[in-house]
Amino acid sequence: MISMLFGPPGCGKGTQATFLAGHFRVPHVATGDIFRKNLKEGTPLGLAAKGFMEKGQLVPDELTCEMVADRIAALDCAGGVLFDGFPRSLAQAHWLIGASKGKAAQVVSIEVPTEVLIARIAGRRVCSKCSATYHETYDPPPALCRACGTASIVQRPDDQEVVVRARLETYTRDTSPVLGVLRSAFPVYVVDGVGAVEQVGQRILQALGA
Ligand code: AMP
Repeated sequence: MISMLFGPPGCGKGTQATFLAGHFRVPHVATGDIFRKNLKEGTPLGLAAKGFMEKGQLVPDELTCEMVADRIAALDCAGGVLFDGFPRSLAQAHWLIGASKGKAAQVVSIEVPTEVLIARIAGRRVCSKCSATYHETYDPPPALCRACGTASIVQRPDDQEVVVRARLETYTRDTSPVLGVLRSAFPVYVVDGVGAVEQVGQRILQALGA
């Protein structure tokens, strides 16, 4: 089964994807995380993606689809995969519809009002080592990351307000129309993303009948 988590930045895709990938025992493929890893390691892909990421824009489709094709060709994806943040453009959606022919697939769309998104992202802090997330108000970051024990909790450069606004604009312009295309090919389950993490997770499982 190919599952896709769809929604704006800050809707909780990453958190829910970690939970759902564990629940369904499939790899969690987060294109943003793969780009950030490449950026940190200074790979050619990371360098090519850098300027787009810093401006809150989408990395070009060709690079993104090639990276996803490589990732899902790995053995651990043979039984299914959970996409987080992919597809994010019409071209990526059409590519994935072609690539998933003959396989079962489903989409979960997480809805959250814009004011809630901005408050969530502005307070978000992440561990630069293991990507565990915290929040200045809802889950204050400890001195040492609870998941990996290192003192590496920071604000993602693209979580600064000016970049967040650009990312939300990119979402509205380029990504929100993708849902219509996905609907034409796959079942789409719309879930309210406001509430406690566990509550939203249960809503998703219920929507999927899992
Ligand atoms: P995220 O962590 O999912 O918000 O992604 C961070 C950044 O990585 C985005 O603002 C984009 O620049 C880039 N990115 C992630 N996923 C994609 C995608 N599917 N297509 C193009 N760019 C992406």
